[in-house]
Amino acid sequence: MKRLLYKPFVDPEVCTDCGDCVMNCPVDLFDFKDNKPQPKGLWECLNCEICMEFCQKDAILIEEVYLNELSSLDEILASAAI
Ligand code: SF4
Ligand code: SF4
Repeated sequence: MKRLLYKPFVDPEVCTDCGDCVMNCPVDLFDFKDNKPQPKGLWECLNCEICMEFCQKDAILIEEVYLNELSSLDEILASAAI
């Protein structure tokens, strides 16, 4: 059975580091690393798109990831990384 997960992606070329996505995500998914918001992992994202609504630069995309299409733990962890 496929398990659908959601993976936020922040375009570092467009992001202005305002922090609105970090402050408004209901599950506190983002950390600031190197002055850019980065997801802590893909497991908790609700696909609510609140971060996208707050981002005035349209810098965020939510990608769909099907767990059974990932063949190893390394690939799952690599998929969670930005
Ligand atoms: S879609 Fe919702 S849960 Fe996922 S990162 Fe954005 S605000 Fe957080
Ligand atoms: S809301 Fe948009 S511009 Fe602001 S920190 Fe998040 S991704 Fe960057």
